[in-house]
Amino acid sequence: MEKYLLLGLAPVFLGCIAFEFLYLRRRAMNSYSWADVSSNAALALMQQAGSLLVAAPLLWLMQRIHAHRLFELAPGWTTLALLVVAQDLAYYWQHRASHRIRWMWASHVTHHSSPRLNLSTAFRQSLTYPLSGVWLFSLPLVWIGFTPTQVVTMGALNLAYQFFVHTETVRSLGWLEAVMNTPSHHRVHHACNERYLDRNYAGIFIVWDRLFGTFTPERERCVYGLVHPLHSHNPLRLTFHEWIAMLRDARLASGARARLLQLFGPPERALDGGAPMAPN
Ligand SMILES: [Zn+2]
Ligand SMILES: [Zn+2]
Repeated sequence: MEKYLLLGLAPVFLGCIAFEFLYLRRRAMNSYSWADVSSNAALALMQQAGSLLVAAPLLWLMQRIHAHRLFELAPGWTTLALLVVAQDLAYYWQHRASHRIRWMWASHVTHHSSPRLNLSTAFRQSLTYPLSGVWLFSLPLVWIGFTPTQVVTMGALNLAYQFFVHTETVRSLGWLEAVMNTPSHHRVHHACNERYLDRNYAGIFIVWDRLFGTFTPERERCVYGLVHPLHSHNPLRLTFHEWIAMLRDARLASGARARLLQLFGPPERALDGGAPMAPN
């Protein structure tokens, strides 16, 4: 279902990318490069393959948990509104954890590895998300009472919304900036300027960042990418470099506590400096 939804929207995404490319070229501010777009496309295909592999067991697990749900949520507008809000809140914490726990950052670092930001950057994802356990954050939703189909579909819609915030062509959306995640807020999220590091984790609603103290408005010009850039377009290197560095650090660390810190501590505690967005 999720696959078909995003697949069905693919022509919209590709049309928007083509439009943005032409728009930026006309204004001589083109942020597209073939090498960058090619690695984004390859990473998107690899990520799709990865999620296809785990789709059936994950659905099975969600159904098992849903069988013990806390509430019966009748289909309708109220349930839909609750689902939009609850799923986005779960996304906020999943995204925040993806930046603050190295085991999860090892996957999410791929999304942040480009020094460019345009609509095609939204496709820059990781094959290893299932291994990092991002799916754990959707389990409370099916336990509360939303059906697995509702949760998976809403997750796909949330990602579809986020496609549109990966752009430099929109400066501000006015009053919507107060409530919604916008291109301006997400540019901050992709920037490695010191004051922008690990900020604006929002999916759809920026209110979570405002509420939980992680909001920073766009004030200075964004410099995109990692604090320690990778200088690579190789999809395999972009996917696995941080896993390799993390496992090496865990092996080199002395004592169980130090090893666990390398695996599950914050990325800036990496022995080798890793590829964190946070300064070290
Ligand atoms: Zn992120
Ligand atoms: Zn992004």
